[in-house]
Amino acid sequence: EIALYQGGASRVAGVDDILKLSSNENPHGAPQSAQEAAREAAGAMHLYPNTDHAGLRAAIGEVHGLDPERIICGVGSDEIIHLLCQAYAGPGDEVLHPEYGFLMYAISARGAGATPVVAPERDRTVDVDALLRAATDRTRLVFLANPANPTGTMIGGQDVVRLADGLPDGCLLVLDGAYAEYVADFDGGLGLAQARENVFVTRTFSKMYGLGGMRVGWGYGAQSVIDVLNRLRGPFNLSNVALAAAEAAMRDRDFAAACLADNTAQRARLLAGLADLGLAADPSEANFVLARFADATEAADCDAFLKSRGIIVRHPVGYGLPDCLRMTVGTATGVDRLLEGLAAWRDR
Ligand code: PLP
Repeated sequence: EIALYQGGASRVAGVDDILKLSSNENPHGAPQSAQEAAREAAGAMHLYPNTDHAGLRAAIGEVHGLDPERIICGVGSDEIIHLLCQAYAGPGDEVLHPEYGFLMYAISARGAGATPVVAPERDRTVDVDALLRAATDRTRLVFLANPANPTGTMIGGQDVVRLADGLPDGCLLVLDGAYAEYVADFDGGLGLAQARENVFVTRTFSKMYGLGGMRVGWGYGAQSVIDVLNRLRGPFNLSNVALAAAEAAMRDRDFAAACLADNTAQRARLLAGLADLGLAADPSEANFVLARFADATEAADCDAFLKSRGIIVRHPVGYGLPDCLRMTVGTATGVDRLLEGLAAWRDR
């Protein structure tokens, strides 16, 4: 399962000009502000970093209007997911997630000795009723990415509240907002987590903020949960270079706004281009789209064809979507090159 989750190839033999669209990274790279902050922080790499991440938590708190005391920072949101499972799920416990849920939920649940339980989706969209039906008195955690990966679909605020209301006592709803930044005027459930003890939010710097390689994520929830996770994490889990880069990126609101606008525009172009090529795709709210093919063989064929041209997308077989290809939204030229590649595949 770990192998399935790995970011995917970033090289193709014999091809120099690679277009990597397989891990939903920011095609614009990291903001200049973050790169400068990281270079400066690198001068102090002989010193241990702060253990409390105070500067980064303050920046996140200011931007999102949150109490920094209720924020925890981790080595990507992967670490926060892992800590939640370590803290709240063990042998005999169940960790529930939707059918096409992000693979780390099951990996972390198993790592904690708990049993992952899957609730079916409807048309590659999370089905709240199915999740509620699957929840039992053994369910400790429910993971829900909104927007979801790898489908790109999302559910509305009322459905999320209905889920939070309907879950059994003693069960924490984790709203994974890895792609929340790509939805305009959306708080990713932070307001709900502020108001309710049974809701927790995870976020990342790996997507919109362009810091996938720095490994920084954060979580927000009830003080009691934050305190438990802080006791479990390593004291120096984040390097001072990563902390400096993430704080600068969080404060760089112009960069975030520009990336949101460009992703929205390029995603629309990509979806329109796919439709012109006769390929079906769900309406994505994230920085990727999931294109559907006639069957798994056709998807694999297209994947291999694109790869031969240096274009790397994701064939999400491990997610149970073998007839699909997930494609990160690139820059304008990236979208052009992908659509040209798809057209050449269709006309091959
Ligand atoms: N959650 C979702 C839904 C994701 O797609 C990803 C990464 O692709 C993550 C969490 C983990 O991100 P990171 O550990 O880089 O913060």
